[in-house]
Amino acid sequence: SAPEPDKDCIFCKIAVGEIPAEIVHATELSVAFRDVNPQAPVHVLVVPRDHYENAAEVAHWAPAAASDMIATARDIAEKEGLDDGYRMVFNTGPAAGQTVFHAHLHLLGGRSLEWPPG
Ligand code: 5GP
Ligand code: ZN
Repeated sequence: SAPEPDKDCIFCKIAVGEIPAEIVHATELSVAFRDVNPQAPVHVLVVPRDHYENAAEVAHWAPAAASDMIATARDIAEKEGLDDGYRMVFNTGPAAGQTVFHAHLHLLGGRSLEWPPG
């Protein structure tokens, strides 16, 4: 099904430029911007332009966008010099800490990242 735009969604608004964000990369399918509350020296969010609730929905309905998001994160990691490694995370559902229900990939790097996460 086609995605339903969500007029109250903060990431939909960032994607169309309705609210400001520090954009680091944009493609036809995705937009990447710095997290407002960074958890690492590099903390970028990559979101599909279209509104899907989580990563699995993107992969199912818009696989090209899912692929674009991951390749975009890789490109940003290279550009930001994260040669030692970085993490891509999709928090999915409240118990995993998802608070914004517009799919987003967290790209984290620039410090050592504990595993398993908290
Ligand atoms: P979640 O917890 O849903 O996986 O991640 C949501 C992320 O979005 C959080 O890391 C939070 O800091 C970030 N965030 C929430 N609102 C905004 C905003 O208006 N602008 C930016 N740049 N990041 C936001
Ligand atoms: Zn949205």
